[in-house]
Amino acid sequence: MILVTNDDGIQADGLRILVEALEELDEVYVVAPDRERSAIGMAITLHRPLRARRVGERAFAVDGTPVDCVDLGVGGLLPEKPKLLVSGINRGQNLGHDILFSGTVAAAIKGTFRGIPSIAVSLVLGERERYIVEEVHFETAAEAALAVGRAVLENGLPEGVLLNVNVPNLPVREIKGFRITRQDRGPYDTKVVKRVDPRGNVYYWIGGERMEVDCAQDTDIYAVRNGYISITPIRPDLTDYSAMGELEGWTLRLGRER
Ligand code: MN
Repeated sequence: MILVTNDDGIQADGLRILVEALEELDEVYVVAPDRERSAIGMAITLHRPLRARRVGERAFAVDGTPVDCVDLGVGGLLPEKPKLLVSGINRGQNLGHDILFSGTVAAAIKGTFRGIPSIAVSLVLGERERYIVEEVHFETAAEAALAVGRAVLENGLPEGVLLNVNVPNLPVREIKGFRITRQDRGPYDTKVVKRVDPRGNVYYWIGGERMEVDCAQDTDIYAVRNGYISITPIRPDLTDYSAMGELEGWTLRLGRER
């Protein structure tokens, strides 16, 4: 059995198309947020109860986060432990630093923590094409999810590793192939826009562009920009092992020196 979730909400087109594609592999269960919960990372709901509403024979809408959905699914809603988790298809990229706040990737990380081979799938969209239905190629991302899902079921994944898949927004025939990539290192140049609302109160809006300081040929960003489907193996362990030795050489004392 395959578990599908997302962070765009249970009504999202990307989720429906993903389920249709994966049904070729196995029975698919859906446990997804009842509304959009994007950019929420690994947030969990601890201070109120969670409700799961059955919305189909094998589909549940949860009033929580993507990670809540994985926990509720594996912890009670599903009849057995899934052999594969696929999160997506996200309406928009999860490249480089995006994975640190992505709800789509967070659900796949949670699946990995629970011992389920997990994949996050995102469709890379520009600001303009995001709102034009005919220009959004979910079908390409669904084919990619099917291919990668099948390969994961056949080969398994290294322990503690998940796959972050990003698909260029192109018709299938224009895709050049798959590339195994690394995460781009460019941070966002975050801008805070200050405006005044109709009642005269100040409000702020966070935005900004990604800083193009990396974009090397082995990155996820380079791959999708050049027409390839990017597959990045991700390990949630953020420890910098190379820095540990250097820190070991520090002298650390509690309190003021006497
Ligand atoms: Mn999203």
